[in-house]
Amino acid sequence: MLDIEAISAETGATIFKKGEQLLINKKVAVKSRNENSMTAKVSGQSVYRVKLEIADDKIVRASCTCPAISYQEFCKHCVATALAFNQQDDQCFAVEDDEHKIRVHLLQKTPEQLVDQLMDFVLDDPVKYKRLLFQIESMSKSYASGDLSKLLIKALPMRDVGEYDKVYDYFQNAEEVLAVFFEHAVKLPVSEYFALIDKASARLDKALQRVDDSAGHRFALVELLAEQSKAMFAQLDWSDQKKAKWVIENVVIGYDFNTTAYHEYLSTQELRVTFLKVCQGEVDKIEVPVAIIEREQNWHLYQLIQPLLEDAVSKGDVHKQAKLLAKSASSLSDLVKISELYLINDDEFNAQDWLLKAQKLPARDNEKRELQLQQIKVDSALGNRQQAWDMAWQCFTQQPNFQSYLQLEQHIELTGSFDVDYLKKVEEYLLKTGRKHSAVVLEFYLHHQRLDDAAKWAMSNDVDYNLLAKLSLRLIDETPKQAIIFCQRSISDLVQVSNNHRNTKAISYLTKFVTQWIDNSQGDNLLKILLKDLRGKFDTKRNFVKLLDANFADYLD
Ligand SMILES: [Zn+2]
Repeated sequence: MLDIEAISAETGATIFKKGEQLLINKKVAVKSRNENSMTAKVSGQSVYRVKLEIADDKIVRASCTCPAISYQEFCKHCVATALAFNQQDDQCFAVEDDEHKIRVHLLQKTPEQLVDQLMDFVLDDPVKYKRLLFQIESMSKSYASGDLSKLLIKALPMRDVGEYDKVYDYFQNAEEVLAVFFEHAVKLPVSEYFALIDKASARLDKALQRVDDSAGHRFALVELLAEQSKAMFAQLDWSDQKKAKWVIENVVIGYDFNTTAYHEYLSTQELRVTFLKVCQGEVDKIEVPVAIIEREQNWHLYQLIQPLLEDAVSKGDVHKQAKLLAKSASSLSDLVKISELYLINDDEFNAQDWLLKAQKLPARDNEKRELQLQQIKVDSALGNRQQAWDMAWQCFTQQPNFQSYLQLEQHIELTGSFDVDYLKKVEEYLLKTGRKHSAVVLEFYLHHQRLDDAAKWAMSNDVDYNLLAKLSLRLIDETPKQAIIFCQRSISDLVQVSNNHRNTKAISYLTKFVTQWIDNSQGDNLLKILLKDLRGKFDTKRNFVKLLDANFADYLD
C-alpha cells in the first residue's frame, strides 16, 4: 500500500482533491500493476498516460504525459493513479470506453474512407507529414553503418528544448526515427550494432543535458536501448577483460540515465570474476589521504566500491567490507558505520576499535550524539553494562524529551536493564524538571499505562491539545467523566483560535471521541452535555458551530 498521506503532503490539498475526484468519477483505467510499478490511463482534458515506480511503499518516480507534470513533482493524474493503486479491484473505467468508441467507429469505415481521413490529419500537421514521408522512404532504402550514425543525429538533435509540448515532440520524433534505426541496425554484425547502440546511448546522454525531460518522456527509449545493449553485449566475442572494462566505464561509473544494473551485463561466472578483479584493480589505483578529515567524497571511488561490497556481503566477508568502507570513508559517520558493521557481526573488539577512531575526529553536535549512541551499543556488547547505562542516562538527560526516553528504553531492551529502578529514576528526573517538559511527563505516564497519574498531571499542568485528546480517549473506558473534561479542554484549546484547519481538527477529534464513547456504551447523556456545552461556549465561532451542527445533529437537538 502506498503512503497516501505522504503524497497528499507533497501535492497540497488542492491537487490531491482533484486527483481524488478523478478516481471517484471513474476516470482511471489501470493498464498494468505490480508491486514496483503501475501504469494507467487517466482521462481529464485529454487522455494521459501515467507511470508510477514504487519502492518500499513510496513513489520513487512518477511520470505523466500531461503538461502539468513539467512544473509539478506530482500532478492530479498521478494522485488518481496512486489512489487507484491502493484499491483492491482493477476496474476499467470511462477512459477505455472513449477509446473503444473511436475504434468501433473507425472499424466501420472502408479503406478509402480511412485513407482520406488519415490524409486530412497528416496534411494538417506538417511534422507528422514529414515523419510519414521519412518512414515510407526509409523502407526502400538500405543503410550502411555510416548512414545509421546519421540517423542517430536525426533522432537526437543537440538543441535546447524546454517547453512541455516541444519536449514531447522531441521524443516522439526520436522514437520514430530510432524505430527505423533499429530495423536496419539489427542486420549488421553484432559488434557494429553494439557500437551503434553505445553511440546512441552516449548521444542520448548528451542530448539530455539540453532537453528538460522532467516529465520522463525518455524512459521508453532508455529501456529500449538498455535491452538492446544487454542482448548484444552477451553476443560480443570480446575477451572477458575487455567486457569487464566496458561495464565499469559505461555502467558502473557511466551515463547518468543508465538504469541497468551492472550485474545484468555479467552473464557468465567467469566474466563476473574478471569484472570484480578489474574493479579491485581500479580501486587500488585510487589514492586517498590517510587522514579522513582531509578526504572529500569521491563519487568515482564510491561507485567502484559498490560491486566489491556487494560481493563481500554475499560471501559474508566482514573484514573485506570494513576495508572497502574504510577506503571510501570521508566522515565520522562512515567510521561509526564500520563499527556498527562489526557489532552486528558479533565482533565487539573491532567495533570498539573503529569507534575509537571515530572518536578521535572533531565532531559536530549531532555527530557527538551519534558517537554516544554507538558507545552505548559497543559497551553493552563488551559487557560494560554500568558504563553503557551511564552513557544512556547521559544521553537522556541531555535532551529530556519523549523521543530520548524511548531511546533509553530501547537501549534497555537491547541490553537488559542495568538499573532496576530506572523507571523510578526517570520519573523523578522528569518531575524535577517537569514544569519545563510538561508534555514528556504526560507521555511517559501514558506510555506506561499509568492513567491515574497521567490524569492527575494533566489536571494541574499545561498540556497541548493533542496530548489532551490522546489522554481523553484513553480514559473513556475507566473514568468517562474525566474523559469528558479533557475532551472539553482539548477542543476548547483548539477552537479558541479561529482557523479552518484547527476547526477541522477539532471535529475530526470529536468524531473519534464520540465513536469510541458509543463503542464503550457510555450512554448519551454526558455526550449531549459536552456537545451542547461546546456549542454554547463557542457560539460566536460560526464556522465551528456550522461543523458541529452538521456532524453531531443527533446530540444537539
Ligand atoms: Zn498528469
